[in-house]
Amino acid sequence: MNRHSDLSNMSSTALVLLLTMVLVCTSQGADIESRSVHNDKKVMVKLPTFSRATDASVLFTFGGFWDNYLRAISDNWLKVAPDRNPAMLGMFADPEKEPHPFYLPWSGEFAGKHLTGAVQVLRLTKDEELRNTLNRFVDRLVKLQLENGYLGPWPKEYQLTGKAPNLPVAWDAWNHYHIMIGLLLWYEDTGDIKALNAAAKIGDLLCDKFLGKPGSMAAIGETYTNLTPVHSLCLLYKATGDHQYFDLARQIVEDEFPKGGDYVQTALAGKEFYQTPQPRWESLHAIMGIAEMYWLTGEKKYRQAFEHIWWSIVKLDRHNTGGFSSGEQAKGNPYDPGAIETCCSIAWSALSVEMLRLTGNSIVADELEVTLMNAICGYQSRTGSWCTYDTPMDGVQVPFTTFMTGHMRPGSEELSCCTVNSARGFGMISDWALMTDGESLIVNWYGDSILSGKLDIPVLLKQQTDYPRTGHILIKVLPIPGHGLEFTLKLRIPHWSKKTRVAINGEAVEQVTPGSYLVLTRKWKWDDKIEMDLDMSLHYWAGEKQYEDKSSIYYGPVLLAYRVPEGLKSEEVPVFDATNMNGRLIESENTDGPFVQMAFSDVHGNRISLLDFDSAGEDGQHYLSWLKVLNVPRSAFSKTNPLRSSAVGSTPALGEAKVDGQNPLAIEADRKPSDHLKKKSLAAASRL
Ligand SMILES: [Zn+2]
Repeated sequence: MNRHSDLSNMSSTALVLLLTMVLVCTSQGADIESRSVHNDKKVMVKLPTFSRATDASVLFTFGGFWDNYLRAISDNWLKVAPDRNPAMLGMFADPEKEPHPFYLPWSGEFAGKHLTGAVQVLRLTKDEELRNTLNRFVDRLVKLQLENGYLGPWPKEYQLTGKAPNLPVAWDAWNHYHIMIGLLLWYEDTGDIKALNAAAKIGDLLCDKFLGKPGSMAAIGETYTNLTPVHSLCLLYKATGDHQYFDLARQIVEDEFPKGGDYVQTALAGKEFYQTPQPRWESLHAIMGIAEMYWLTGEKKYRQAFEHIWWSIVKLDRHNTGGFSSGEQAKGNPYDPGAIETCCSIAWSALSVEMLRLTGNSIVADELEVTLMNAICGYQSRTGSWCTYDTPMDGVQVPFTTFMTGHMRPGSEELSCCTVNSARGFGMISDWALMTDGESLIVNWYGDSILSGKLDIPVLLKQQTDYPRTGHILIKVLPIPGHGLEFTLKLRIPHWSKKTRVAINGEAVEQVTPGSYLVLTRKWKWDDKIEMDLDMSLHYWAGEKQYEDKSSIYYGPVLLAYRVPEGLKSEEVPVFDATNMNGRLIESENTDGPFVQMAFSDVHGNRISLLDFDSAGEDGQHYLSWLKVLNVPRSAFSKTNPLRSSAVGSTPALGEAKVDGQNPLAIEADRKPSDHLKKKSLAAASRL
């Protein structure tokens, strides 16, 4: 029995019991004494438009595809990576050690990034073994902190100077930023006061060294990394109420930023992000601090600057996969073939979570979904044990450790900026899946799952669906205690779903608008049923520049890609006609297999298989996501159509179809007239 049927068969009584358990577990820690310097922690001037709805009562139980991914990441990476790479923590044990080990400038980030992703995945899985592993991890981490708050690998005279004994540059402040974020997330979920204390000691160290000395933090160099503590200092201020952390954050934004990326002023002046002084991906973590400054001060310039930067990246630097960066930075061209680094797509999603919290715009959630289903699933091996450095639009997915052997260091052979970061891409589902605006629950996540949120009462939302294989989603609304309670659900209607059908207990809901939230306010009864049918018609992004004559094909949020049979010549790559794709969804009973696989007709009438972007590259085979498609109209970028995509009128709604028991990947054997292609395709299929 797979997880899907586990969920489907779970009785209502079992659901209530599960929710009760979660409520009991997550209420622990409420009585733990806070480190708060100021008892009154009302430090926020503005409250986020949306916030995570699940912080008080979370129950994420995924089925099928997502469950497999999360379990694999948890079992084959998060639980084992620290033991297999003892330097992840061991590098902090003796910073004065001689001769000094040769670390990377960012080696000190590994522990913090690992903890951040792991805490977020734990929010989704509630895996007790992972929780115990992290307990031990945090215990050891905080014990390694020096008395002055330092938690890095370098000797005293180099600490937070931007230099290291055997490196011209060091990212010490950046490394501490990531440790602070990990510790604060762990504290948020567990109430573990020693984690908050350790984060605060880092904050104290930063304040001792830099507060009241404008420009001193920028002076340590590498400003796109070393100014990122602005973000963690804001979070620390919210957790403790200690004003010095806010003061240093403000100093960074007002006095240090202008000496580095100058993010606020350049945005207010209308410059595109790629035109700013530091358009590297690491800057996105500093920019998250700008959104936090808006909550803390209410000053509109911060909100205006942040929103400008986010839209600039969507328009000019978010690729067709939802991934961000071309060669580790913004270039102003979504068709640029430069590397799309794993860390960059993660930073992009984290920035998008902030944008969603800021604006409550459902299109931001659409963006998060596209990035997750394509760029993030694409960089992560389904074994859970490796990720890529670069997940190109066209190309091959190669494990980071194979691609960049130069990053290997004794004791941390498997660790790199990306490998310690990759779990976070999935963990962030916990940030945006189910949110609240204080009065309603906002459903952004569609997929087989049980979501639990809390308004005045706890509410379970049980989804039964194979989305994104099809657009049919059944949501059972399960309020506790269960009857006649009025509250509001807001359902995300993706901008690409032009004709969405929604019914409550069989009764159609009118005025469902794409690119918005459908507001459903009623007295909900136990087991009320919402049925949704998202419009999964194909939509196409007509390429420009490097992809002038190519198009990307989307099935809902899923980018379709072509697995190139070995030895296929470029002129033999199939050509499609958008007015006559004749697509059929191929059945799959295997949750480890492709989650979307379709057969199409090319212009010669040959049946060609296209897969979801993730699956197309999963086995290391060459793939293409920019394809030659005739009759695709060009749509301009807009804030209501950020994918620049258009459905082509005659595209049929796609229905499930069986392909005569064939291995679907062998469909290409029907191609004519090239017999040699037939042999190659069959050979390729036999390897699968
Ligand atoms: Zn990286």
